[in-house]
Amino acid sequence: MTVRELIHQSEAMLDEKDKDCNVAKVLFYHLANKEPHQLYLMMDEDVDEELYQAFQLGMKRYMAGEPIQYIKGKETFFSRDFTVNENVLIPRYETEELVENILYKIDDYFEDYESINLCDVGTGSGAIAISLALEEPKLNVTATDISKEALVVAKQNASDLNANVTFYQGDMLQPLIDHDIHVDIFVSNPPYIPSGQEIESVVKDNEPHVALFGGNDGLYFYRKIFADVKKVIKERALLAFEMGFDQRELMEEAIRHYFPDTPFEIIKDINGKDRMLFIYYHLKEEL
Ligand code: GLN
Repeated sequence: MTVRELIHQSEAMLDEKDKDCNVAKVLFYHLANKEPHQLYLMMDEDVDEELYQAFQLGMKRYMAGEPIQYIKGKETFFSRDFTVNENVLIPRYETEELVENILYKIDDYFEDYESINLCDVGTGSGAIAISLALEEPKLNVTATDISKEALVVAKQNASDLNANVTFYQGDMLQPLIDHDIHVDIFVSNPPYIPSGQEIESVVKDNEPHVALFGGNDGLYFYRKIFADVKKVIKERALLAFEMGFDQRELMEEAIRHYFPDTPFEIIKDINGKDRMLFIYYHLKEEL
């Protein structure tokens, strides 16, 4: 069978089940270790047996509802390939925007620092912590997660990408408290989906719930962090979070409670949805 025949056959199958037809090509060039444009040049070649089997197995998993990123075992984040599996949340495009904005804030508020301590709480695949460590050499990065299985993935990514990140296992701020760590920049993309909320089944049935759900209103972990974070930040610090698009009002209420005089900002993502929260602790004039 030629590559063309195999791809056409699979596209027809995907189409029939109302699934994304591009997946056939994406999976094929991934397994064949080719770039998309190279696939076009090999359309009339015969598919070798091993590749054929691997491709069919991948298609089967996709048809059964698994995300393509877990099947490939990879997702690109901030232009780098990260290993992912069912123990970590698949890094999202919106989270690249969080990383980008943190880099801008570093220029704005920490320009004259020789070294900057940063932590990422609930690091998952390590995408945020590793990207920041690689983009800004002045950062001294610590990352934590409650999931040992997630940390295996994060450590693998740090080592594959040559990033200098220190990882600790533990619940929320506890590892930072235990190691007496105080940071200039506190970052977290905690689970923020309200427990009862209906979400896409490809997410709900595959991604770790410990990385998705944040209690009744989705803010459980933010409140936990706000209540204790002063134990792990310096006198002057930036707090940076990803948040749910529909959480502005609840979030403002929580901030007014825990940080009554501290300036903060909620920034929209590229889709115009509230997505990032920055709290400027002693970085700007008090309100
Ligand atoms: N953005 C993710 C989603 O919508 C949720 C990530 C999170 O809870 N931190 O699936």
